[in-house]
Amino acid sequence: MMNFNVFHSNLHLNGRCPVCNTMYDLHKFKILAERDQHVLTYIQCSHCGSALLSVLSMSPHGLQAVGLVTDLTSDEVTQFGQRAVVNNNDVLTLHQSLEDDAFKIP
Ligand SMILES: [Zn+2]
Repeated sequence: MMNFNVFHSNLHLNGRCPVCNTMYDLHKFKILAERDQHVLTYIQCSHCGSALLSVLSMSPHGLQAVGLVTDLTSDEVTQFGQRAVVNNNDVLTLHQSLEDDAFKIP
């Protein structure tokens, strides 16, 4: 189980939309999937409508977050996850593929 105090303090530090810099409405924050030390999260900006999909990972170095801006809805992301059962390797692959481009705007 995640430590949600750490979780929320991290979110507070990174709680702005990377596109328009508006503070996120944290009531819209969703956890889409959770597996081992990895949590897939989704939040949509109420101002510009872009969404941030991120993987939070507990590691020996602490909590790490990588994310990407997407125009998928959370339902679309969830449907994608239901079609192809996400396993831990997928999460790690996503994590690694995002690592170099974390929070960059495409
Ligand atoms: Zn925005």
